[in-house]
Amino acid sequence: MCNTVADWIVSAIPQAWRDASGSGRSAIRKVRSHAEYERWYPSFANTGLAVATWPWEYVGADLSRDQARLVEELLAPYNLGRLNPLGLNSAAPALFAHGSAEQRARFLPGLVRNEEKWCQLLSEPGSGSDLASLSTAAIRDGDEWVLTGQKVWTTWAHFSDFAVCLARTDPHVEKRAGMTYFIVDLHAPGVTIRPLRHLGGEVDFNEVFLDCVRVPDFNRIGGVGDGWRVARSTLAGERQMVAGAGSGGVDRIGGAGATRLLARARELHRAADVDVRQRLVGVYSEERIREWTNLRVRGAVAAGGTPGAAASIGKVHQGGLNQRAQMLASDLLSVHAMAWEVGVHGGDLGSSAVAPESYAAALPFEVSGMLRSRANTIEGGTTEINKTILAERVLGLPREPDPFDGVAWNQVPRS
Ligand SMILES: Cc1cc2nc3c(=O)[nH]c(=O)nc-3n(C[C@H](O)[C@H](O)[C@H](O)COP(=O)(O)OP(=O)(O)OC[C@H]3O[C@@H](n4cnc5c(N)ncnc54)[C@H](O)[C@@H]3O)c2cc1C
Repeated sequence: MCNTVADWIVSAIPQAWRDASGSGRSAIRKVRSHAEYERWYPSFANTGLAVATWPWEYVGADLSRDQARLVEELLAPYNLGRLNPLGLNSAAPALFAHGSAEQRARFLPGLVRNEEKWCQLLSEPGSGSDLASLSTAAIRDGDEWVLTGQKVWTTWAHFSDFAVCLARTDPHVEKRAGMTYFIVDLHAPGVTIRPLRHLGGEVDFNEVFLDCVRVPDFNRIGGVGDGWRVARSTLAGERQMVAGAGSGGVDRIGGAGATRLLARARELHRAADVDVRQRLVGVYSEERIREWTNLRVRGAVAAGGTPGAAASIGKVHQGGLNQRAQMLASDLLSVHAMAWEVGVHGGDLGSSAVAPESYAAALPFEVSGMLRSRANTIEGGTTEINKTILAERVLGLPREPDPFDGVAWNQVPRS
């Protein structure tokens, strides 16, 4: 198996990427644009190695976990990150745990090859932390469902093809009992996607309006009214994704933050600064703790369990750690993190001539990473909510009181 993978590396990974592989991730990024990687990616996915432990029929390689780990080690120098993370971490776990064989056959191959991109329609303007209070309605009409409502903070909806979606199918029962889990085609009539711009000027997430969107019953995952159970299995996967080592997008200074920060501190002649040294040691120590926690969660999954409530440990820790690391990266720049001269970083933010979409390009990457990291303690469930999950399900403390426990959703007051 290792020989086959080694042969494939030589024959399929472009020479320039292989040449850069010895010099680290940033060297690879310099010779490989994201667009180029996206074009090449299906040929990688078709080997089955992108999801090596999955069955052949869903574009996996049917490998054991130990074999997959060996393959991962062989591929690691080439930084072949898996595309479509929300599909892989949210839609796929739901399809495996609660979907039918026909649904898996329809949706998983396009998802793995990144030919069909995915996002998740869960949060609503009035329902974020208390997701189970959501109002988007799904009404059955023969073999179809008609969905109407508004979702918000929908990451990557503006370039996605499908979304997993939680909607209310029965308002007359307790909030968790009346929801059903669907797959929504984002190109269907009635779907309107409006991008939201965040602090750094980039567009990551969107408002999504569903106006009588028809969804075939084939796209229902799990039973009618069983949506909360399906959602819980995908939310644990999302928390693990946000928290996991190398978790895509959230970490602009790279996976091994302390090492990168130390190199940067030396470059900027700040490595002898007492405050910087203390903060560096702090990040280094916390990274080790994060690694061990991730290994524990991975061990539980390898033993046949799910990430479950333990994924919240990683989520709570990683959110804060990444913010501390990104803030240090930004602080190392000293005054250059606060303001810059016209043209130095490609633009003058004080000038109305700079369009918001170019803020991100104009910011030093440390500053854009620091701004983006503010979301780490919100996305995938806030730190406060994850601490409550830990208190109740890991530490066994009494449940947070809910005055409307057991009351039908349509009897609960809402603003
Ligand atoms: C970058 C980013 C990407 C996202 N991507 C998606 C996505 O793709 N799809 C999607 O559906 N959603 C997405 N979200 C939404 C995210 O899941 C919600 O923002 C999050 O669950 C919090 O909900 P809220 O924003 O409505 O805040 P609220 O629920 O209104 O909370 C406001 C504050 O009150 C606190 N709070 C609320 N209830 C309690 C309580 N019971 N105990 C203690 N404190 C409490 C919260 O911790 C928070 O600090 C994304 C968010 C971000 C920031």
